[in-house]
This record gives sequence, C-alpha cells and structure tokens, in this order.
Amino acid sequence: MARYTEAVCRLCRREGEKLFLKGQRCYTGKCAIARRSFAPGQHGQGRKKVSEYGTQLREKQKTKRFYGLLENQFRRTFDNAARMKGKSGENLLQLLELRMDNVVYRMGFASSRVEARQLVTHGHFTVNGKKVDIPSYTMKVNDVIAVRETSRKSAKFQELANRSVPPWLTFNADTLSGTVVQAPSRADVDIEVKETLIVELYSK
Ligand code: SF4
Repeated sequence: MARYTEAVCRLCRREGEKLFLKGQRCYTGKCAIARRSFAPGQHGQGRKKVSEYGTQLREKQKTKRFYGLLENQFRRTFDNAARMKGKSGENLLQLLELRMDNVVYRMGFASSRVEARQLVTHGHFTVNGKKVDIPSYTMKVNDVIAVRETSRKSAKFQELANRSVPPWLTFNADTLSGTVVQAPSRADVDIEVKETLIVELYSK
C-alpha cells in the first residue's frame, strides 16, 4: 500500500496546527509547530489570500492527514459516508474514528496512529476473538479488540496502564482489551474541522 514517506512535521506546518503524527514528540518543545509555526517552503511565511476552494481543500487535507489516509482511501470513506443516513460530514468523521487503527490509538495501545497502523498490520490484535490485521477495518458497536495471546508478553504491551479513553470506548490494561460501547458522536471527535467544507468540496 502506498504511504506518505516525507517528513510528517511538514504536514502539520502546512495546516498550521498540530496533527499529532509523531507520538510523544508532539507533546514536547521539539514539536515543529512550537518552533516554526509557519508553512514550509520558500513562500511559507508569505501572506496569502485563500479562496473558497482553498479553504475547503485545507479542511479536507487536514482531516485526511490527521487520520493518516491517502486521497483514494479518504475519498472512498467519504463516498461510504455519503451513502449512510444522516449528515455526510458527521458520518465521515464517525467512519474515520471507527477505523481499527484509530481505535487502537484511542485506546492507548499506541502513541500515534502511524504506530497503531503498524501494530495492526503486524497482527497483534483480535476483534471478537479473531485475528484482524486490516487498519481500515470498520469497528462496530460491542466489538471487542484485544492483544493476541502470542503478543501479550511483548514489552510494548506489558508497560500499558489503565488510562482515560473517549466515552465511546472502554479499555482494560489487565486484560489488554477494550470495547466500542457506542458509535462516536460529533462531540467525541476532537479534531478542529469544519466537516461541511469537505462535503462542499466533494460535492462540486
Ligand atoms: Fe506535528 Fe507532532 Fe511534528 Fe508537532 S511533533 S509538528 S504535532 S507531527
């Protein structure tokens, strides 16, 4: 699968805000947004007038990068969201939150979505008792995600402690498992995004 392989801090600088792509580093003074909070490149510090299209594009790019998706994956997720009942923008955020890699990250098994994706593809988890190694797998309400028996002794999982997780999830460090107790609502999604602008962009 294609992946973005450039310096990811550039993506945050381009969007002008933290996208939390590098785990613990994002919470330290080494964060590039803390040190150079202007767009990368020769014209990064120039003043720009942003068009309506530009504003919509930035919201889409920011959301796509926050969840670590490439354009085709993001567009497919949007198309699925548009086919669901309700508001397409909110459905989109809900589908993004319910991706298995995001749930692994939200439960605290990984310090970033990139790490979560790697843990999933390396086959460290089960969903309802069956091994699942597809980061884009859509979790459903009452699905239980757990570290596989063979991975439990790994130092990575031994160090985990109970922590607070979003209200739509539970996490138990003793059993190394967690449950999706309800679908995430718009209020549960912490990315600062105007999702209606993404809908407008894709509706052109
Ligand atoms: Fe973004 Fe994290 Fe890099 Fe800061 S350290 S710019 S939040 S990826």
